Amino acid sequence: MTDILQLVKAKDPNEREFHQAVMEVVESIKPVMDRNPEYRSAKVLERLVEPERVIMFRVVWMDDQGRVHVNRGFRVEMNSAIGPYKGGLRFHPSVNLGILKFLAFEQVFKNALTTLPMGGGKGGSDFDPKGKSDTEVMRFCQAFMAELFRHIGPNTDVPAGDIGVGAREIGFLFGMYKKLANEFTGVLTGKSLNWGGSLIRPEATGYGSVYFAAEMLATANQSLEAKTCLVSGAGNVAQYTMEKLIEMGAKPVTFSDSSGYIYDEKGVDRDKLDYLMELKNIKRGRVKEYAEKYPEAVYTPADPNADHNPLWDHKADCAFPSATQNEINAKDAQNLVNNGVQLVCEGANMPTVPDGIEIFTENKILYGPGKAANAGGVSVSGLEMTQNSMRLSWTRQEVDNRLKMIMHSIHKTCLEAAEQYGHPGNYMVGANIAGFIKVVNAMLDQGLV
Ligand code: NDP
Repeated sequence: MTDILQLVKAKDPNEREFHQAVMEVVESIKPVMDRNPEYRSAKVLERLVEPERVIMFRVVWMDDQGRVHVNRGFRVEMNSAIGPYKGGLRFHPSVNLGILKFLAFEQVFKNALTTLPMGGGKGGSDFDPKGKSDTEVMRFCQAFMAELFRHIGPNTDVPAGDIGVGAREIGFLFGMYKKLANEFTGVLTGKSLNWGGSLIRPEATGYGSVYFAAEMLATANQSLEAKTCLVSGAGNVAQYTMEKLIEMGAKPVTFSDSSGYIYDEKGVDRDKLDYLMELKNIKRGRVKEYAEKYPEAVYTPADPNADHNPLWDHKADCAFPSATQNEINAKDAQNLVNNGVQLVCEGANMPTVPDGIEIFTENKILYGPGKAANAGGVSVSGLEMTQNSMRLSWTRQEVDNRLKMIMHSIHKTCLEAAEQYGHPGNYMVGANIAGFIKVVNAMLDQGLV
């Protein structure tokens, strides 16, 4: 098993995040490999860690001052054993091939857990939408899609949003795809409602994460009622995580962006969340402004040299990391445990470093890994694809019910797989094993392709 890690590291030594994601899966699925020698001889691991296809391209665009910019675009088509490639696009200056491979790899297992027929992919660019005008973002999206359109399609590869890609970007991307392909199809998810989107898609990742947390708490005969919750991020996932937490009687007390974080001891209520949503989604402002509007809240600027993130150092019952990868280091994990947190539910992808996960496991924290806990987003994307194919729209209630059912089923699947392979209660091991078996069996059925 260490061989596969060595192989991955030797082939692509600089892809740190990808190594981390592979290591976590490889360690979890060891008992499955031991019980199924045919997996070894079919080299399933070697095949899983190699993307089926990587597309890398130049994106040239012009800003409002007439200056030319060159960015790099990517699409990693990781695995299509159980359906068309599916996974978001990320626009962030940190984007590189290693980060997208880690995200695409995670996506393969996540999508398998959803019960829907979706393979795994991920893409994006090192373009930073922050501080750009709407017309600049539009020109970038059009230039990006001018290349990507020839590689995607409703039965081939269906991208969605991720960090830096929300409703505005999906609109510009879809418009350009439609023009170039000369067809109106469900080639992207996260579309606006009046041109093919699904109700509940914007809310789905955050809501799904809270539904998953409620399922985990129910195993300990507890609920979210009156629980104090730390949330990080202030984007799509964080906002709807807070919305559902408030609805379920919990009290979110923190949120953040890359410049700093807010601690609001009294809790973010419906009115305050409305203000935050307008601030972030319409005015495209910074979380700092929340403390100017609500003086009882405390704003702490981010310190790039700090050895831990003070957001995770408040007394609370639950934590919902919903910003980005590796945002909880070992010290943060220990602080969470010391401060009484009993549940960590990952809205973001891989937000906890491996040593942090170990601390959660040792301390018997209810730990919901991203690939299970944040699968609600891609699940409703799958439901959006279904509605597009059928050319009809389900009601809000219908989509929400399906989302709840899917999160319930993912939770159950993780617990059953963990139990079956000797790690009762370990959601991470359960998620990795259940996703792995489903994808690998499909790969074996389909031969050497
Ligand atoms: P958004 O772009 O809407 O929001 C991201 C938030 O996280 C922003 O507040 C952003 O702050 C902050 N953030 C991003 N990068 C960093 C960083 N390096 N350091 C500190 N803060 C950072 O993205 P989403 O809410 O969509 O995504 C959040 C996480 O959830 C990601 O890990 C994503 O992969 C995952 N996810 C998203 C899904 C979805 O449906 N959208 C589905 C499943 C997982 P700032 O504005 O300052 O950059």
